[in-house]
Amino acid sequence: MKLANRLAFITGGGRGIGRAIAFEFAREGASVAVAARTREHVEEVAKEIADDLGVQTLAIECDVENTANVNEAIDGFRAHFGRGPDIVVNNAGLVETELFIRTDEQMWERHLNVNLGGTFRCTHAALPEMIESRWGRIINIASIAAKTGAPYISAYAASKHGVLGLTRSLALEVATQGITVNAICPGYVDTEMTLRGVENIVARTGKSADEALRTIMNMSPQHRLVTPEEVAALAVLLASEAGRGINGQAINVDGGTVLF
Ligand code: NDP
Repeated sequence: MKLANRLAFITGGGRGIGRAIAFEFAREGASVAVAARTREHVEEVAKEIADDLGVQTLAIECDVENTANVNEAIDGFRAHFGRGPDIVVNNAGLVETELFIRTDEQMWERHLNVNLGGTFRCTHAALPEMIESRWGRIINIASIAAKTGAPYISAYAASKHGVLGLTRSLALEVATQGITVNAICPGYVDTEMTLRGVENIVARTGKSADEALRTIMNMSPQHRLVTPEEVAALAVLLASEAGRGINGQAINVDGGTVLF
């Protein structure tokens, strides 16, 4: 098992990509804490994983926008598992679509506060103990929108570009300390977030849901959505001992949509 005896803290673990990562990590022997704002979701995922795979799990209600909340979450993690996380997956995120001229400051700040600020807060809370133990993995779920732009997503793309800046700089700061920091950049993944994207296209263009989904799928050269499990498989590699040479990278899981 690639993650035996490892402790992982996964934000946005209540559904979608975060849930899939929690399951894959647990399959590889890690104990996992799943954190999100909706208590029922994280409790359900934590229970399902513990029941199915027999590993230790913890459900944490946490809003990554709130520093006190994040610090309490990491303190709760320590109290439960006896030490801080070895692996932090910064996955909690939101996307809202709007033309830039109609993007108000609140919408701009929501994206920066959750997608980028949440990554900062969770990493900041967990890193000192990783430095002390001379082992750690920070895995940031960015997006191909961290590398390219697209209409209607200026706030989202700006926040995700910021995640890459943080990833690359921190990776170099901790490179000699047994810690790696990497980003995963998925294309469209089969989750609720993409479903909401389909609904948006339907509302804006009058296309049917099927046509809207086809439009999204055709953005990938593979003409399909990525599965959450495909993203999770890369997260396992980055979290594992075998992945220790991969540092400061932003790796696409997008079927070849973005080639850099
Ligand atoms: P979902 O919308 O399905 O899930 C998002 C998760 O994040 C939920 O568990 C949600 O729980 C949690 N979350 C949202 N806001 C907060 C917050 N403030 N504090 C704590 N948790 C929060 O999204 P996906 O699984 O699709 O996406 C996960 C990540 O992957 C995001 O960062 C997204 O930007 C990125 N991504 C997704 C792609 C896609 O096509 N789906 C493509 C590229 C990147 P709750 O609401 O209960 O807090």
